[in-house]
Amino acid sequence: MNAVPFNQRVREIGLDIFERADAAQPKIWEQAWWLEQATHALEKDNRLKTRAFTFVDCLPTLRTNESIVDHLAQYLDPAEVDVPKIFHAAVAPGPLQKTREELIGHATRIGAAQMAGRFITGYDGPSALKTIERLRRKHMAFTIDVLGEFTTSDAAADRYAAVYHNLLDELAARAATWPLIPQIDGPPGAPMPRVNVSIKLTGMAPHFDAIDPDRAIRHVGHRLRPLLQHARDVGAFVNIDMEATRHRRLTLDLFETILMEDAFRDWEDIGIVVQAYLIDGEDDLRELLGWGRRRGTRFAIRLVKGAYWDAETAAAVRAYKKPPVWTRKWESDACFERMTRTMLENVERIRPAFASHNIRSVAAIVAHAEELGLTRFDYELQMLYGMGDPLKTALAQMGHCVRVYCPYGDLMPGMGYLIRRLLENTSNDGFLKQSFSDPSSRDRLLQDPSIARPPSAPLPQRHYVNTDPEEPKTMFENASNTNFTVADNRRKMIGALEYVRGEFGRTYPLVINGESVTTENTHNSVNPSCKHEVVGRVCLATPTDVDRAVAAARKAFKIWRSTRAGDRSSLLRQLAHKMEMRRLELAATMVLEVGKPWREADADVTEAVDHCRYYAEQIERIEGRPRLRNVPGEDNMLAYSPKGVCAVISPWAFPLAILTGMTSAALAAGDTVVMKPSRQASILAAKLMEMIRDAGFPPGVVNFVPGAGAEIGSHLVEHGDVNIVAFTGSQEVGAGVIQSGAVTRPGQPFIKKMIVEMGGQNAIVVDADADLDGAVQAIIESAFSFAGQKCSSCSRVIVLDEAHDLLLTRLREATESAVIGPAEAPASTTGPVIDQEAVDRFNQFLETGKREGKMVAQAKLPPECEEGFFVPPTILGDIDPQSSLCQEETYGPLFVLLRAETFEQAIEIANDTRFALTGGVFSRSPAHIDYARREFAVGNLYINRRITGSQVDAQPFGGFKLSGTGVKAGSPDYLLHFMDARCITENTLRSGLVPNEEHSEVT
Ligand SMILES: Cc1cc2nc3c(=O)[nH]c(=O)nc-3n(C[C@H](O)[C@H](O)[C@H](O)COP(=O)(O)OP(=O)(O)OC[C@H]3O[C@@H](n4cnc5c(N)ncnc54)[C@H](O)[C@@H]3O)c2cc1C
Repeated sequence: MNAVPFNQRVREIGLDIFERADAAQPKIWEQAWWLEQATHALEKDNRLKTRAFTFVDCLPTLRTNESIVDHLAQYLDPAEVDVPKIFHAAVAPGPLQKTREELIGHATRIGAAQMAGRFITGYDGPSALKTIERLRRKHMAFTIDVLGEFTTSDAAADRYAAVYHNLLDELAARAATWPLIPQIDGPPGAPMPRVNVSIKLTGMAPHFDAIDPDRAIRHVGHRLRPLLQHARDVGAFVNIDMEATRHRRLTLDLFETILMEDAFRDWEDIGIVVQAYLIDGEDDLRELLGWGRRRGTRFAIRLVKGAYWDAETAAAVRAYKKPPVWTRKWESDACFERMTRTMLENVERIRPAFASHNIRSVAAIVAHAEELGLTRFDYELQMLYGMGDPLKTALAQMGHCVRVYCPYGDLMPGMGYLIRRLLENTSNDGFLKQSFSDPSSRDRLLQDPSIARPPSAPLPQRHYVNTDPEEPKTMFENASNTNFTVADNRRKMIGALEYVRGEFGRTYPLVINGESVTTENTHNSVNPSCKHEVVGRVCLATPTDVDRAVAAARKAFKIWRSTRAGDRSSLLRQLAHKMEMRRLELAATMVLEVGKPWREADADVTEAVDHCRYYAEQIERIEGRPRLRNVPGEDNMLAYSPKGVCAVISPWAFPLAILTGMTSAALAAGDTVVMKPSRQASILAAKLMEMIRDAGFPPGVVNFVPGAGAEIGSHLVEHGDVNIVAFTGSQEVGAGVIQSGAVTRPGQPFIKKMIVEMGGQNAIVVDADADLDGAVQAIIESAFSFAGQKCSSCSRVIVLDEAHDLLLTRLREATESAVIGPAEAPASTTGPVIDQEAVDRFNQFLETGKREGKMVAQAKLPPECEEGFFVPPTILGDIDPQSSLCQEETYGPLFVLLRAETFEQAIEIANDTRFALTGGVFSRSPAHIDYARREFAVGNLYINRRITGSQVDAQPFGGFKLSGTGVKAGSPDYLLHFMDARCITENTLRSGLVPNEEHSEVT
């Protein structure tokens, strides 16, 4: 007898499920029906959906009825979104304001609680218990998930683990009283644990980062091992959830390492998730099957499509990378079916669980199992609480083991989960939305995804916003940072560090007119993480060397200025290529010479590469751009000429990026350069000089004269043959540079162009409704990464009274959990400060802080910091905003926490300094965000993100007031500052003839 073809069998099973599910649909008198209707209303209007979800996202932070009404009115502004008329009247100001606020606030909370209650099992253990007992009465099993993912502190991770420990005890005690239900508790003789929990590893330790897997495994393991042991002791099952792809490798490594240990190697009641929406999903499955074979004990695998599709694709598009996920829905579905088959073929090694609400996917699981002669005890079907309830009922009725994923806990940490569910429920591509809304589409929905291939929306492309149709579109793309979560890249970086160590003791010469010049006087560049290590010796220039360098640059200018822009650009692109080739060596040099941690050092190289390519492209655009009005008989053009010799004086904080940025801009513009890097970062500068020579720039176009700022820098700035000074550094030095550059010396036939970028006193304002998870992470990164030594680092946090105490607690915990250590250690997020002077200065800030206010948090320095220039990340409080700590530049891992009563007052405090460099706002109020856009006076304003880490082209960088002369590095305007503009007008009329072909019809 011929077997029924596979797809026909899937169709039969699918239609059966549909029929049963139809019968189990919610009725009009049930709450679920009304919630469904509300969801459908949102699905119809994308704008309304986005606004409504964003409002839901901030709702848990709104503490008063007044702020609920205020936010509702902002998010659902009738002028912008289509909302029922009654709503307009409710939120508009008018009589009985207080009563209406109370009513609306109350109704909104109830509505949100109902919406959350649809997907979240309960806020505490007892309510979750009630739900799971209700599920068991319907013959459905459960897995409990404690809401919360990603943590910034050890204290929060401890709390998360403690909740699981208590939960295991409570559930185990209760489970002993439950009557046996073989359908979900296993067949006689082969019982399955009744208690089942799901865990997200990012909640188990701060800094869940694959850059140092051993460290992460140690830290996560420190909480995970006791938890697994506890589960084993009480006979519970534990499933490890899979999160975003950046955590995937570490999650697999953790799982495979810990479960291979003697204590757990023979334990069966453990599982992990594989994601079919990943292009590498099948590889993960193969890897786990191979691992399971070596381990020799059965374990569980839950197959899902994946919950982070939108975020993964957006992140990839932003980074110009191919997404790690399939980009067409049918591809995920087809992959899910291939992986289903593989899992079912391996039931002797794994216990398969399939998590899907897609009836085609579920029917295919059942059909594959039938083909392989498996029983319903050989696998289980899993679904999320609140999603596809009729489907669960149908499958349970058919005798399947259905397990419901039940999240419980506070809404605040669960907001990410709730929003993912809302998106999933209203997604156009989602199965649930299509399946029950249109019964006629069922045959289509049950088709084989690898054959049917329904069309799906293309991936969003990068949009180049260019309002001038005349302007060529930019083709610039930022270079990519190294992904250190990839083991091979980590190995290469370790190799690069060894290589640079092998170079220790090298002497780096000056370069004048293409010749290397060694001098007797040298500077030892020291590793700030280990002050006894000399990274290399750098020759020091004398004023006479500077004179020779300027003369060489002046001579070379004659040729360089008339070199075609395209040829200058080619050389810059060649330089970018050289940097990419030596990327890890340069990053390693930075780690050792200035103490920048791995990722930041690598990003510094990326920025340097970006500058070269960006200015190469910009000069070609500027040259090809007719910018003036032309009339018949008259040809007008704006031509740009290079100015001459540019003195580039750069800081150590961005040792490659800023030096390369200023140099490459001058070179693109046609100017020649004399580079004077910061003493502390001269080796990196010497390497840049090497690459400039290798790239083929003619001799004299770039000259290299490291030396003491006071002597060599001043001599350069004052030099009568230097036309432009491009300086980045402290305000104190910068102000002196502007002053001496402004003097027109005898015989100097031009005014010096001064491009001067200085420091800041940068603030982050945290609103009462801010997402505190995001704010804490951003503040810690902005204030403590690279030990707070960037000009963009955060030195003040101004928080609204309402959020002050909570933010303070969270910041304190996060500060105490900072990973401080030598920059060479991959996991270090806070490395050393640059030198002893910086240590002394930091200690003075601390003294002032303690005298004028108090220290509210300070991290402890670990023993490995003894050899270097380390200072502990610190938060100061109760300080007067007029104190020098809030008014002067304060480099180092330290910030002051200030309070404000209103948002407007917070912005006023933020603005009340002499600086205007970077600033940040964390708020979910559209009105406040608008206000900050208008009133926050800084060169770079960042909303709801960290305030460091600008990207060329996307966030042109530079400040005003005493932060700088107002130019923007990495912007389309930057090059114009290195050139003189000339307007040229030609009368093209010849005896009444208009030679311009365009106007030939003019008579
Ligand atoms: C019990 C349970 C546990 C889960 N645990 C996890 C977990 O640990 N980690 C995790 O990441 N997910 C997990 N999920 C999966 C996730 O939350 C979604 O529920 C699941 O991806 C939805 O798939 P579906 O088959 O139900 O729906 P369908 O509507 O058939 O599929 C929707 C899915 O297809 C994918 N998709 C959507 N658009 C596209 C596109 N254009 N191109 C390619 N693919 C696309 C996405 O993965 C999306 O979620 C779990 C789900 C359940 C039920």
